[in-house]
Amino acid sequence: MPTAMGTIIDGRAIAARMRERLRADLAGLGVTPHLRVLYFETPSSRVYWAAQRHAAEQLGIATAQAGGAGSVGCPWSVGWPEVEAIIQRWNRDPGVHGIFVHQPLPPQIDPEQVSTLIDPGKDVEGIHPEHFARRFFAKARIGSCTALAVMELIDSTGVQLDGREAVVVGHSEIVGRPVSMLLLDKLATTTVCHVGTDRAGRLEEHVRRADVLVVAVGQPRLIQGAWIKPGAVVIDVGINVVGGKVVGDVEFDAAKDRAAFISPVPGGVGPVTVMTVMRNTVSACRQQAARS
Ligand code: NAP
Repeated sequence: MPTAMGTIIDGRAIAARMRERLRADLAGLGVTPHLRVLYFETPSSRVYWAAQRHAAEQLGIATAQAGGAGSVGCPWSVGWPEVEAIIQRWNRDPGVHGIFVHQPLPPQIDPEQVSTLIDPGKDVEGIHPEHFARRFFAKARIGSCTALAVMELIDSTGVQLDGREAVVVGHSEIVGRPVSMLLLDKLATTTVCHVGTDRAGRLEEHVRRADVLVVAVGQPRLIQGAWIKPGAVVIDVGINVVGGKVVGDVEFDAAKDRAAFISPVPGGVGPVTVMTVMRNTVSACRQQAARS
């Protein structure tokens, strides 16, 4: 592993490079991709939607019709019939190429019902079971956007994964599990830790031997800086608000003195995830255009 310590992985710069590549792809596409986002009227969902809308506008990806109908913000109290009707309308509309539903969902909305309802050809978050199955066989056409963002950040370091010890903390369907599959595809020896690992008091021992550590839990300072293996690559997916500041799951200041590369929060995984949604939308649009 590299010996230089504390290089901060600049997610905004990586996202900017992805945006330039996407601009070139879009120029050759000949169609304006249409993305529809269902977000919720909560502070975090509104912030994420604003970032997605800004990225889409910069690229010329449409998030609404000329007449105004388009992406929808729902109250947190929204019921399933309304969510179902919105997704079905977008599924049926041939002018809509990509659909993205914000998570976390309100407790009355079943995530499984959402992920199975979205047309897999339009599912730009990569949450439909068809995408998980393809991922299992390393044949995904559209992958989980956060997991793909994590891989972009790792790739930017130049560190080869073949034979490395990779440790993923968190096993959610949208981050931890797909990341672990992508790491396996790169022949990293991959361990997945979760709440049971922590309860057994074994989180530290796994983290200490990670050449590449990906943390996606949502608990500030869950991972202590002193646990980081010297020279490791650390990717912090977590988003937490502490004392009005956004922080990740890793004790950043102490960890950066031990890691070779570390992603900050904010400015790490987040901007790259937004760009992977745009890239997935362009891919979905291209695949739909090829079929019609
Ligand atoms: P999630 O669905 O709540 O999953 C959290 C995972 O952490 C679960 O697998 C959970 O296990 C595990 N966990 C809980 N407590 C733990 C502990 N003490 N030790 C080890 N594992 C523990 O959340 P998510 O959607 O994966 O998101 C995780 C974090 O990433 C959140 O902060 C979220 O805001 C952030 N996020 C960021 C981006 C981005 O683009 N930057 C995108 C998506 C998510 P159990 O299920 O067994 O309890």
